[in-house]
Amino acid sequence: MNLHEYQGKEILNSFGVRIQRGIVADNQNKAVDAAKQLATETGTGWWVIKAQIHAGGRGKGGGVKLAKSLDEVKTISNDIIGMMLKTPQTPPQGKKVNQVLIAEDVYYPGDNEPEEYYMSVLLNRATGKNMIMYSTEGGMDIEKVAEETPHLIFNEEIDPALGLMPFQARKIAFNLGLSGTAMKEMVKFVGSLYTAYVKSDSTLFEINPVLKTSDDKILAVDAKVTLDDSALFRHKNYVELRDLREENAIEVEANAAGLNYVDLDGNVGCMVNGAGLAMSTMDLIKQSGGEPANFLDVGGTADAERVETGFRIILKDPNVKAILVNIFGGIVRCDRVANGIVEAYKNMGDDMNVPIIVRLQGTNAIEAKQLIEDSGLPVHSVVEFQEAADKVQEVLANA
Ligand code: GDP
Ligand code: MN
Repeated sequence: MNLHEYQGKEILNSFGVRIQRGIVADNQNKAVDAAKQLATETGTGWWVIKAQIHAGGRGKGGGVKLAKSLDEVKTISNDIIGMMLKTPQTPPQGKKVNQVLIAEDVYYPGDNEPEEYYMSVLLNRATGKNMIMYSTEGGMDIEKVAEETPHLIFNEEIDPALGLMPFQARKIAFNLGLSGTAMKEMVKFVGSLYTAYVKSDSTLFEINPVLKTSDDKILAVDAKVTLDDSALFRHKNYVELRDLREENAIEVEANAAGLNYVDLDGNVGCMVNGAGLAMSTMDLIKQSGGEPANFLDVGGTADAERVETGFRIILKDPNVKAILVNIFGGIVRCDRVANGIVEAYKNMGDDMNVPIIVRLQGTNAIEAKQLIEDSGLPVHSVVEFQEAADKVQEVLANA
């Protein structure tokens, strides 16, 4: 589950990580109130107005702007709230901005020595250990740094049994070129950041930039935080941080119906049981010249109701030109699935407006094929994998 910058910063702050402080607002008047409150609390006279969307690169897209007066806070907030913000990470049409973070300006006026670093915490799946990835080249595209100057990106792996050791935090500060107070501050920052990552059950922290001010404070200016959905049961207070407006509407609906659905860009809808079979089905579609429109795992119970819900969700995607059902009847028998498909199809009537190819394999596969053929419905029933691929190709050619 992805969080907004302001939510990520609140979590960091709750674990003692120093952050650029801010208050979120969803209209210009609240933005001005927030700015006034920040001025009282932090003494700031300038503010940064930051669009809150689930995408990075906001600065480049015009979603991060400096305001030097309350009037500017008002006009800039008004401009940003409601805009379709386009960044290298948003869909082409951009993402709608519902709220802004009014943050204290931490790049002090006249401060010509602010240093920006990059730091992330994530799991290295190859070694099974958490790692801190960091670089002196913060504030810019880390992908670009990785491509052009990979030697400027460092990794520190953490032994899960020992946790982050003090020498590791010092090494990070040293590699970032710090000494004296700034070094001590960075060691503290890294320590609390790592604790926050572990205790919040996150799968990603990306802080870009981490800022060193001219008076040697180290703080998080930006925060991309991804929480582990599977651990949310341990963090009831994080559940409400989910912003459904930021998520794919079809995926949200499918997940609410208990279906494992991922929206993709192609033209062939897939309904499958089991994630492994879903992967190989997507390969099959690609081989037959199509592109998968989604990944849909209906799970163990492919009864009529579930199949119908699945069909309806797949058909919400206007790019779908055909649906391939590929189900392995192990615990669930193929004839029962076939009955489910026939019943769902009949219930849907004209709502089912694309060709369906059904491949049922496993227990009672032959009976299942017969059932579908006997139903008289315009469903292409196949048994072999290759037959399914050929059928998809044929159907797409006629679409
Ligand atoms: P991103 O573009 O989505 O990654 O958003 P960031 O939160 O990283 O902000 C983008 C850029 O805005 C940063 O790299 C900074 O250069 C700038 N910025 C952020 N906070 C401040 C601030 O307090 N003062 C000034 N002057 N610039 C800031
Ligand atoms: Mn950033």
